This record gives sequence, C-alpha cells and structure tokens, in this order.
Amino acid sequence: MANPVLDVRNLTTHYFTRKGEVQALDDASFGLDKGESLGVAGESGCGKSTMAFSLINQVQPPGRVVEGEVNIDGINSVQLSETETRKKVRWKRISMVFQGAMDILTPVYTVGHQMKEPLHYHQGITGDEAREKCEKYLGEVGLDREIFTRYPHELSGGQKQRVIIATSLLLEPAVLIADEPTTSLDVVVEAQIMNLLKRLKKELGISMIFITHDLSILSEVSNKLSIMYAGKFAELGDAERIYNNPKHPYTEKLLASIPRLHKDVKRLERIPGAPPNLVDPPSGCRFHPRCPYAEKVCQEEEPEPRGVEGRKVACHFAGEVT
Ligand code: SF4
Repeated sequence: MANPVLDVRNLTTHYFTRKGEVQALDDASFGLDKGESLGVAGESGCGKSTMAFSLINQVQPPGRVVEGEVNIDGINSVQLSETETRKKVRWKRISMVFQGAMDILTPVYTVGHQMKEPLHYHQGITGDEAREKCEKYLGEVGLDREIFTRYPHELSGGQKQRVIIATSLLLEPAVLIADEPTTSLDVVVEAQIMNLLKRLKKELGISMIFITHDLSILSEVSNKLSIMYAGKFAELGDAERIYNNPKHPYTEKLLASIPRLHKDVKRLERIPGAPPNLVDPPSGCRFHPRCPYAEKVCQEEEPEPRGVEGRKVACHFAGEVT
C-alpha cells in the first residue's frame, strides 16, 4: 500500500446467542490508502454491517470482536476501551454514517444544536467557532448555512442525510464508513447523495468504505470492491476488474442478478437457495450448497484466498470456472 490509512487484519466478530455462536464475520483483511474507497457488497446478513461496527469498535453485546486488528494511525482500535475509542478513534479517525441515520436526529433540537455536540465533546469547541465549523460543513454537503437553525421536521429526507454526512465530517476523520447511506431515499436523491460522497472523497482526500446490498451503485464510487458471502470475503480487489470480469462464482451470480447499464444482459439470473445459518455454516466453502461449480473438495476444504488477475479470490477453482 502506498499511503495506508487503515490496515485491517484477520478481523473476526461473533455473536454469542442462546442458539449458539453466530460466526458473523470471519478473518476479514484489507487495507485502504488515503483517498481510496472500498465498496462492500453482499446479501443481507453476510456480515457487512458487523464489519462496519467492528471497525469503529462498537459491536453490541452479545457480539464481540474475537480476533484481529484494526490499525489506524498506529492505533489498534479493537484493543481500546469504550472511553478510549470515543476519545481517540470514533469521529476523529473513523466516522460512520449509519443505516437510516437521518432518523437519529432528535426532533426537539435544532440541527445546529445537534451538530455542535461532537465538536464540544471531542475538541472543546463551542459558541461562534463551533457554529462557523458546522456551517462550513453544511456548505460542503451542498446545504444552505441557515439549515443550522432549522429543526429536523423542516427538512426533507435528503437534507437530513446531508446533515448527518456533514456531522460525520466535522472532526475531519481519515476514514468515513457509509453503511447503506441511501436506504429509504428515492432514486433521484440516492444518486445525489452518492455523487456528493464521491465529490467529498475527491475534494477532501478522505478514504471511504461504502456498504450496500445494491452492487449496482458501487461501481461508480469505489476503487476497490469486496464481495462478502456468509461472513467472509469471497472476492476482494480492483473494483473495475471485478465488476467487468468476476472470478468468484458468487460474484458472477450476484452480478448476473442485477441490471447492468453498459452490458447486453438478456435475462437476469437468480441465485438458488438462501444464505446459510451462521451458527452452523456449511463445511468447506460456505457457498458450496448454492454453487453451480461445486465439487467434492468444496464440501471438505475451506478455500484460502488466492491472487487471480489483480484480486484475492476465495475459491478452489478461482479463475478456472468463471
Ligand atoms: Fe463454488 Fe467450490 Fe469455488 Fe466454493 S470453492 S465458490 S463451492 S467452486
């Protein structure tokens, strides 16, 4: 990596439930350079959000990070206590726009009141200085400065989401995680928000992680792509290469199931079956019960990620069957 801001190694997070240990995220490793963006896609329940919460050290019980490192600015955040994480990492170094984040704005306080909070807590900035900074970032996300004095009910869904993005940038984090940032927005506003994030990445040089179940919106905004299946990375590497020429059977099927603007796709495919129960995932390759190319070895041995044409692919037959 040329200029790494984030280095994640073997990150593993499980939930300890009455029904058993849910292996929600297993052995995730990746790096992110300054200004780079990683798109993370996969079906619901594949571990995308668990990974995001693990990165900001905010996995809620009964879950916990059981192994691995999240290195940012020389700090391994998963080893920090909650107080240390708040002081040193969250907002400051890694910020996150949560799924449905626009609903977290409290209706009884103005936007400004709520935006100023992290500035006060983390940097002791108050009064006019805080207002100036908030208004600056409202401007960055394309909002009028007077939004500062408005109440959330006076804003549209798209404006609220922009407020959340502005707030997440206030402490100038090196990495911004956007977890399903356009959920519940209509397609026009969705496009505006994605364009906004793309612009901010370019202008502020911030590194971003986009998480979504909708692979089609990632191609425009990500340099790198990670396809997750059942808590594991199936394929990870250059976004354009993966998008145009997938090497993992799951990626292939996932891409064949979405409409592609620049490809002559006659018929969309569906992936038969359903994602596995992660309390008791399938032996060997977790995708084998749904994979059209599965052979005996797939049931018996877990495939190690291996390098194929500029990406890592966790498949025994990577590059041979797709
Ligand atoms: Fe399919 Fe086997 Fe590859 Fe898994 S290892 S994706 S089951 S071919």
